[in-house]
Amino acid sequence: MTAEQFADRHIGPDPDDERRMLETVGYGSVDELMDAAIPEVIRWHGTLDLPAPASEREALAELRALAARNTVAVSMIGLGYHGTHTPAVIRRNVLESPAWYTAYTPYQPEISQGRLEALLNFQTVVTDLTGLATANASMLDEGTAAAEAMTLARRASKSKSPVYVVDADALPQTIAVIASRAEPLGIDVRVLDVTREELPAEFFGLHLQYPGASGAVRDHAGLVGAAHAVGALVTVAADLLALTLLRPPGEVGADIAAGTSQRFGVPMGFGGPHAGYLAVRAGLERMLPGRLVGVSRDADGNPAYRLALQTREQHIRREKATSNICTAQVLLAVMAGMYAVYHGPDGLRSIARRTHDMAARLAAGLRAGGVEVADVAFFDTVTAVVAGRAAEVVAAAAERNVNLRLVDADRVGVSCDETTTGAHLRSVWAAFGVAGVDGDVDAALPAALARTSDFLTHPVFRSHHSETAMLRYLRRLSDFDYALDRGMIPLGSCTMKLNATTEMEAITWPEFAHLHPFAPDTQTAGYRELIGQLEGWLAEVTGYDAVSVQPNAGSQGELAGLLAIRSYHASRGAGHRDVCLIPSSAHGTNAASAVMAGMRVVVVGCDADGNVDLVDLDAKIDKHRDALAAIMVTYPSTHGVYETGIAQLCAKVHDAGGQVYVDGANLNALVGFAKPGRFGADVSHLNLHKTFCIPHGGGGPGVGPVAVRAHLAPFLPGDPLGGHVDGKPAISAARYGSAGILPIPWAYLRMMGAQGLTRATGVAVLAANYVAARLRNHFPVLYAGNKGLVAHECILDLRPLTKATGVSVDDVAKRLIDYGFHAPTMSFPVAGTLMVEPTESEDLAELDRFCDAMIAIRAEIDKVGSGEWPAGDNPLANAPHTAAMVTGDEWPHPYPRSVGAYPGTVDRMAKYWPPVRRIDGAYGDRNLVCSCPSPEAFES
Ligand SMILES: *Cc1c(COP(=O)(O)O)cnc(C)c1O
Repeated sequence: MTAEQFADRHIGPDPDDERRMLETVGYGSVDELMDAAIPEVIRWHGTLDLPAPASEREALAELRALAARNTVAVSMIGLGYHGTHTPAVIRRNVLESPAWYTAYTPYQPEISQGRLEALLNFQTVVTDLTGLATANASMLDEGTAAAEAMTLARRASKSKSPVYVVDADALPQTIAVIASRAEPLGIDVRVLDVTREELPAEFFGLHLQYPGASGAVRDHAGLVGAAHAVGALVTVAADLLALTLLRPPGEVGADIAAGTSQRFGVPMGFGGPHAGYLAVRAGLERMLPGRLVGVSRDADGNPAYRLALQTREQHIRREKATSNICTAQVLLAVMAGMYAVYHGPDGLRSIARRTHDMAARLAAGLRAGGVEVADVAFFDTVTAVVAGRAAEVVAAAAERNVNLRLVDADRVGVSCDETTTGAHLRSVWAAFGVAGVDGDVDAALPAALARTSDFLTHPVFRSHHSETAMLRYLRRLSDFDYALDRGMIPLGSCTMKLNATTEMEAITWPEFAHLHPFAPDTQTAGYRELIGQLEGWLAEVTGYDAVSVQPNAGSQGELAGLLAIRSYHASRGAGHRDVCLIPSSAHGTNAASAVMAGMRVVVVGCDADGNVDLVDLDAKIDKHRDALAAIMVTYPSTHGVYETGIAQLCAKVHDAGGQVYVDGANLNALVGFAKPGRFGADVSHLNLHKTFCIPHGGGGPGVGPVAVRAHLAPFLPGDPLGGHVDGKPAISAARYGSAGILPIPWAYLRMMGAQGLTRATGVAVLAANYVAARLRNHFPVLYAGNKGLVAHECILDLRPLTKATGVSVDDVAKRLIDYGFHAPTMSFPVAGTLMVEPTESEDLAELDRFCDAMIAIRAEIDKVGSGEWPAGDNPLANAPHTAAMVTGDEWPHPYPRSVGAYPGTVDRMAKYWPPVRRIDGAYGDRNLVCSCPSPEAFES
């Protein structure tokens, strides 16, 4: 009897499928195929040193044991992380629903209307509450949002000053992230007590916290005026719940608001993930980093959503980019938006009032017992002054299972939230040694700062307050969308593989979900052990010596890795080395990260086969030899090919004194077969939301650990609460970044084991080569490596067909929707092509369904080419077809309705219908609307 192996569930093709695929590709075994595909210079022939694979039940039992070693205390630490009740209807039907969590970033808007609407709700929440004009669809966390606000201010300010002023009452971890981002850019951060110290004569931006970390709520109007007088922009990092009661930043004249939406129903997760936000006043929207959802119209003129102003995004702008954010926090933004939909404006106000009442009672009880409470207006946080007794009070509270904030030897911070109860207050009072008070007390909100403007007046925030209505709204939106729960998403470079249910189980357990990132170490032993094991396994898989999971997306891992290189050079007296070589085929985040790390980007060309041009590389190295800091290459290349020149490339750069950064987003083609840390690279980031099974969530969350060889280990990210010391940067606001989702890759590695992981890589490469083999005669496969083989993805070249027939890659992508597919990656890394990455998780039936659809589409293209169907009116040009269109009373098209609706062998009982026809993106960019449109817009 053999125990059931998880790997057999994770890997789609069974042995029979595998045999047939190998026959098509022309190899006798996966080993034989891999021997032929992978260049021997990078090949690693060992067996990964990982624990023997656990079954699903065993892995869950081990996770339970780790969870049991965490202590869920009542968290009153505050500092931007608060207890919150996730409405169960949202937890189960969003956070735990594959219809939401397995979706991809909504680049194909016709199949993403559900999450686009949900994100538009989120943007509306942020703009309404902050009183600003435009908000994006989420940032990575409050710290990074504040840092992006700083660079936005730098770009928008007319001031030539390099000085950025930060309120000393800002969150300490935010100050650390801002300082880390500022340093390589030459920005001079001045932390000032703005209530007492004078502002400098010149500065380009000012960062204020509202309410402050101490809890103080201050009127910022005077400071905003002073900043504007010298041409500086003002960012207010504001608490969204407090803004339901307090005058919003936009009404005080702030230019930018930044923060987090965590307390809108998203568990703390020991630091993340949750959705940061960024909002700007009118006039700055075209400088806003990150993704922005907007309203446009479809081919029938009906309103439809899509990503707006995409040319702002970094992957288009490359070295001209001003931000590297790519994967953000969509799933968590959806949750926060839905929390506001469920509670509505009145519900939010009453949660805020109750939270404030708790804080006011707390303060009154302390004062009644003779404890000094800082004499300021506050919302949810009070700072108590207890000369020399602070540590003692915090310890006494911990004994009562309550965590307080130790500000310094004399001061204790206490934050209330939605979950605070009278019993919690009594525990806090007891810890201070006071009796407390009963009954209601006066509010401590400043009357002059009371909010008078209305918010969330759109009907969506007033219509779904019963659970039935909410459940149906969530179902309606998720039904609009195509996610992995419907079929394959063959997006090259994105690795849309199985996100197994067992891997997802632990993330909502209270012992993982409800820990504050700054909880004492004694309460987080299980978490830290899990993280230590995960970092160790990732080091083993990649061949590096040290790993940090702090970066909360691939882009952030890139920045962390490049900053490590920068610090390393500086530590050796080579701080002048600032040139980063980047091949022309690189992902846009690479160049953007290099710019953020203070480097100059020099582009290296590719040869006719798509490989890094080693002749051009020599020329660029010669030209920049003394200034060379690093090269940043993706392996396998973004063309999906195992380049044979990689070892040579590493040697050339090392000989010139540079470091080698290998972008590890494509690790799914390497695990078990090659280790970047062994074939010449110094540092990589990995994308745990690609290779290691964290679901994409519709555009986040992600985790982008940075992995380094020993000489770079001293420069890995540090503790954001530890201050900006020893050159260790704060890459995100919490020490372990998005710790709350680390049980997912932990479970994947634990259940796959060395053999399972290696098999997965082999099958992923087999699947890509199978697709290439089946489609080669219908669409040229653009690049190949050894023996005509591709790695884990293949590029289909549509340019000759487009030239001959006018049918574009867009037409093919939209027609695939009619066939029941998400399109492959479009026009990356080569314009006019489709990049297909099937992954190991899709079985042969699904791979064949995709290949058959592509072959059928090729025949349709030929009919356009031959003139049988007119160029402007054919199933490709009109795709995707909606149910309304094909059942309309008029049908003026030169092909039958059934060809539009049910092409090929589409299953008529399981047809996916897009809710809108093809969307006109340019129209929406000319008429920018980035919050919920009025219902009248939808009247036909
Ligand atoms: C996905 C990807 C990135 C960026 O990762 P994010 O998590 O989206 O920031 C970088 N490089 C490559 C090659 C990628 O595929």
